[in-house]
Amino acid sequence: VDKTERKPEWLKIKLASGEDFQEVKELKQMMRSKTLHTVCEEAKCPNLHECWANRTATFMILGETCTRACRFCAVNSGLPNELDLQEPERVAEAAEQMGLQHCVITSVARDDLEDGGAMIFAETIRAVRKRLPLCSVEVLIPDFLGNWESLYKVLDANPDVLNHNIETVESQSDRVRSKAKYRRSLELLEKSKAYKPNIPTKSSIMVGVGENWEELLQTMDDLRAVDCNIMTIGQYLQPTRKHLRIEKYYTPDEFAKLKEEGMKRGFSHVESGPLVRSSYHAREQKAAADQT
Ligand code: SF4
Ligand code: SF4
Repeated sequence: VDKTERKPEWLKIKLASGEDFQEVKELKQMMRSKTLHTVCEEAKCPNLHECWANRTATFMILGETCTRACRFCAVNSGLPNELDLQEPERVAEAAEQMGLQHCVITSVARDDLEDGGAMIFAETIRAVRKRLPLCSVEVLIPDFLGNWESLYKVLDANPDVLNHNIETVESQSDRVRSKAKYRRSLELLEKSKAYKPNIPTKSSIMVGVGENWEELLQTMDDLRAVDCNIMTIGQYLQPTRKHLRIEKYYTPDEFAKLKEEGMKRGFSHVESGPLVRSSYHAREQKAAADQT
């Protein structure tokens, strides 16, 4: 499917305006002045206005250059810069300035670092907590190449939600993701639960990369088998023509059906829709997980 053609109606979004727009503009300037990056901006996320207005944002730490090159992802790949040890504090300051109620912290994959960046993740969680004790903190982490000590380092900082994306079904995983492994992602979620049973775990998949319906249900079963609590499902959209093609646009009805299937399987929350991204309605997802 060519992304410029036949884009379904439900993927066309309205732009926010007026006061709302001015605030977003100022927040973007603040990010630049602190040399910080948000996924909201970098991924041109269609939900930015809604999320920021609802005091949710996703920071991308550990630089803008990823050591991997997944075929669906717009982040630059290459050799990253040196570690920025002041970054946790700057993220916390920005989160405070934004008055965040839910802060998502994610990163590129830093396979060049021994701990994969786990220490910076842990420090960022602590720095945000210190400034914003009431803000929930979710981390969306890479797989640390299966270095579970790194996972435990992050969990020791007690994030409110531990998120790691499985991204796609098993048969598409090697084609779509770079270096990540379907089974390793499941193992990460399993280890997290075993180490900190009280921290809800979460995972996301994007649909439309060539999977079939049965495989999606199988992935839900696999996630539930490691007691993953929250799942998000969204439409894959091709960032540029060079990226992986879109094989299928799911309809809003199909997303609703997927949500139903997920809830039947015992997830405490399933966010499923064309524009759903991992951190969309993240605060509500966490609230649902807390009640269970
Ligand atoms: Fe940012 Fe996530 Fe919301 Fe998109 S869905 S605007 S990336 S917090
Ligand atoms: Fe993008 Fe993450 Fe893959 Fe890096 S590891 S290319 S940031 S999806």
